[in-house]
Amino acid sequence: MSERCDIAVIGAGAAGLMAAIAAGRTAMESGENLRVIALDGAKTLGAKILVAGGGRCNVTHHLVDERAYAGSSRHSIRNVLGRFDVKRTVSFFSEIGVELKREDTGKLFPTTDRARTVLDALLAEARRVGVELWHPWRVAGVRPDDAGFAIQRDESGACNDVRSLIARRVVIATGGKALPRSGSDGQGYSIVKSLGHTMTPRIFPALVPLTTPDGHFLRELSGVSVPAEVQVRERGGKVLVSFTNSLLFTHLGLSGPAILDASRYLADARHTDPGATLVLNLAPGLSPSDLDRAIVSAKGPGVARWLAESLAFRADVPGHADRGMPERLARALCEHAGIDHATPIQLLTRVQRASLVSAVCALVVPTTGDRGFAHAEVTAGGVPLSELRLDSMESRVSPGVHLCGEICDVDGRIGGFNFQWAWSSGHVAGRAAAKAIIDAT
Ligand SMILES: Cc1cc2nc3c(=O)[nH]c(=O)nc-3n(C[C@H](O)[C@H](O)[C@H](O)COP(=O)(O)OP(=O)(O)OC[C@H]3O[C@@H](n4cnc5c(N)ncnc54)[C@H](O)[C@@H]3O)c2cc1C
Repeated sequence: MSERCDIAVIGAGAAGLMAAIAAGRTAMESGENLRVIALDGAKTLGAKILVAGGGRCNVTHHLVDERAYAGSSRHSIRNVLGRFDVKRTVSFFSEIGVELKREDTGKLFPTTDRARTVLDALLAEARRVGVELWHPWRVAGVRPDDAGFAIQRDESGACNDVRSLIARRVVIATGGKALPRSGSDGQGYSIVKSLGHTMTPRIFPALVPLTTPDGHFLRELSGVSVPAEVQVRERGGKVLVSFTNSLLFTHLGLSGPAILDASRYLADARHTDPGATLVLNLAPGLSPSDLDRAIVSAKGPGVARWLAESLAFRADVPGHADRGMPERLARALCEHAGIDHATPIQLLTRVQRASLVSAVCALVVPTTGDRGFAHAEVTAGGVPLSELRLDSMESRVSPGVHLCGEICDVDGRIGGFNFQWAWSSGHVAGRAAAKAIIDAT
């Protein structure tokens, strides 16, 4: 059985729902009756919205600019973000009944602290503007057709008997490969490739925990969270990028926002420079010479106790106010530096001091890789923005097809930036798809 519609949105995650809503609203505003169908392979919609931000959904960030993103050129990313910016995003959510609050970090969350509020409001708005939500309805392929595009369903169970859908325009919002059990398993890549798109040469996990070698001493600290400055350095020592935020030691390696933010840059650097390193400053805000001076003038307790009690970090990392270094970490760092942790601080030799300073402020951590897409929050790589018209997100190689969200070569930092990309690009794509049909009639 086959059916027809005006716009088919493939993928009803954050970007797809926004695109479908924008298309539905544009039609309504123009008094046109467009049939918009959002298709998703998942049985239940919005898995990623529900798990986002630890179940609270970090919808966006107070200050969004292109420097928080990587992938395609920052100029192109800014171009799209500027078409549906944070102010409009906040108003949009308010209109659909989701008030957002700003936390000290600049992150915006729903005042309910429940991701469910965000998902339910998006689904209700989609229905209000006449969008049909078909799920599960997994798309196997899309091919150009005289009337637009023929969308083939795959063989898995579906919510109806329709096997093929003819659409005048298609919005592809199938996401990337992060958290594949949510339904975003990269199948969208073969769909866009069949339509003539290329992909970046590398597609890799971003915002992903890192692994350290078996037996590495930091693994013993699993569960401990500390403020840290995480640097990615090239072989010669030049700092390529640096993030100051929480770091979490895990039984397999390192996680926490500072590590997640650094992960894609480390992977990228290692690709061309296998000697690129991950370097931690576990006394963020203190330089090696600051720490050295502080040790020289210190007196009293053993080294580990001194690190735990007397070391005042200067970096302001939310969640870590007024907390020194956990003594477990201090002891482990002493051991790593070859120093008995009970040695009175004033008795350290110059060599010991240098070794301690480097363990605390410039700890090189060997990493063996990352936890992969199953544990990544986002995908680095995808369809280059150079293949899209940025004012409509319409494909340059397959006119009539629009792309939005994580399928594009855009990935952002922790903090709501990835959803903002989904909202902005989804809005541009959905609105442009509807306008193109309305203008043509
Ligand atoms: C654990 C976790 C926490 C996160 N927390 C945050 C956060 O707090 N703030 C933030 O900004 N970002 C967060 N992110 C990132 C954010 O969720 C994504 O960047 C965003 O969801 C991408 O939206 P999207 O619509 O492009 O893709 P997705 O959300 O991945 O949606 C794609 C949809 O397409 C469907 N689909 C795929 N292939 C097909 C097909 N062939 N046929 C039909 N349907 C298909 C999938 O089922 C899915 O529903 C988090 C991600 C994860 C994994």
